[in-house]
Amino acid sequence: MATTTLSLEQEKNPWLAAEARFDEAAALLKLDDGMRKVLKSPAKEITVHIPVQLDDGRLEVFTGYRVQHSIARGPGKGGIRFAPNVTLDEVRALASWMTWKCAVVNIPFGGAKGGVICDPNLLSDVELERLTRRYTAEIIDFLGPERDVPAPDVNTNEKVMAWVMDTYSMHVRHTVTAVVTGKPMSLGGSRGRKEATGRGCLIVAQEALHRLGLDPASSRVVIQGFGNVGGMAARLMSRQGFKIICIIEYDGAVHNPNGLDVDALFEHRKETGSILGFSGGEDMDPGKAMFLECEILLPAATENVITSQNAADLRCRILCEGANGPTTSVADEILMDKKIFVIPDIPANAGGVTVSYFEWVQDRQGFFWNERLVNTRLAEIMVDSFHAVVEYAEKHNVNNRTAAYMLALDRVAEAIKLRGIYA
Ligand code: GLU
Repeated sequence: MATTTLSLEQEKNPWLAAEARFDEAAALLKLDDGMRKVLKSPAKEITVHIPVQLDDGRLEVFTGYRVQHSIARGPGKGGIRFAPNVTLDEVRALASWMTWKCAVVNIPFGGAKGGVICDPNLLSDVELERLTRRYTAEIIDFLGPERDVPAPDVNTNEKVMAWVMDTYSMHVRHTVTAVVTGKPMSLGGSRGRKEATGRGCLIVAQEALHRLGLDPASSRVVIQGFGNVGGMAARLMSRQGFKIICIIEYDGAVHNPNGLDVDALFEHRKETGSILGFSGGEDMDPGKAMFLECEILLPAATENVITSQNAADLRCRILCEGANGPTTSVADEILMDKKIFVIPDIPANAGGVTVSYFEWVQDRQGFFWNERLVNTRLAEIMVDSFHAVVEYAEKHNVNNRTAAYMLALDRVAEAIKLRGIYA
């Protein structure tokens, strides 16, 4: 691939990474030039400048984006993130990943993503609410249960989703719960949504272990991130007998070769504000933790943590991508040479959007499912998607990531062909 000539900065540009993978899959599918252009171009990119009155009376203006990459298979779907390093390129890439993610697990959505450049840690709750409401108001014409349905992502949660839902509802003058997913249970949220991404990771990791003939009970897991995805995955995996030997956070890592007591670690963090200093493990240099020998490495924090600079040092058997885009496209080649079994982000972290789909269905029906039903249906979709990707990879002699992209692109291209181009 030509990507090997990229500088590290280019390698880490998520839009270039998304393009590289797209190009490879599109070439293998022999998609014609016109279809490639249609599939690659985001359908809509909205940039808004959001004035917010701060608590001390000053006015500040924040920049926000919403990109709808594709609505070919259904309404746009994807989270909203609040972070200081949000860029349009990143939101664009994440929106396209949502298109492929929804297609690979075959749920009837397109792909979208939103982001606001801000540091939520520096904003009060009231400021955050004002920011969320004004951002929602600025993009409101593009939202709706049939148009574009946001959800939580980095630094946003069910409280933020409740504000989005309320702002939208106030504008249209009636309550529309299905305009966002990941809402609180009392406002039309779904049972199992909070755990869904972590649960999805657990399910695909189990399938991968089974495939490789490895036993969960003797499987060592290293997890980067202890938030909604990593924390949930850690909890659920340890309940299934996996040995969580290391958790890596932004401020350090904690290691126990015999397995960490995950519930006790949650308790410790609640009391002290950090995973460090935990009596059930040793603090460890987070820069080294990712390279511990293990059966499963689960990056569940941010993009670009596995790059051309460090991929060769990984010592895992399975890489299960809980985050979006944790591996650069250049690193993919190294992982392949090392014969690491990669469960790519699409479908590995698709559990979240899958239960978002269930939430949207429940809201629209006004009929809510019990947790068992949510989890059973989630497991069905995750297991089927995992096998579809792995079998496609074997049949076409490509790696799992390329297979996932090929499956997804093919489905979206088919929808576009059947719909035709409106003129
Ligand atoms: N932000 C999550 C993701 O990247 C969930 C998106 C959704 O539920 O719409 O998959």
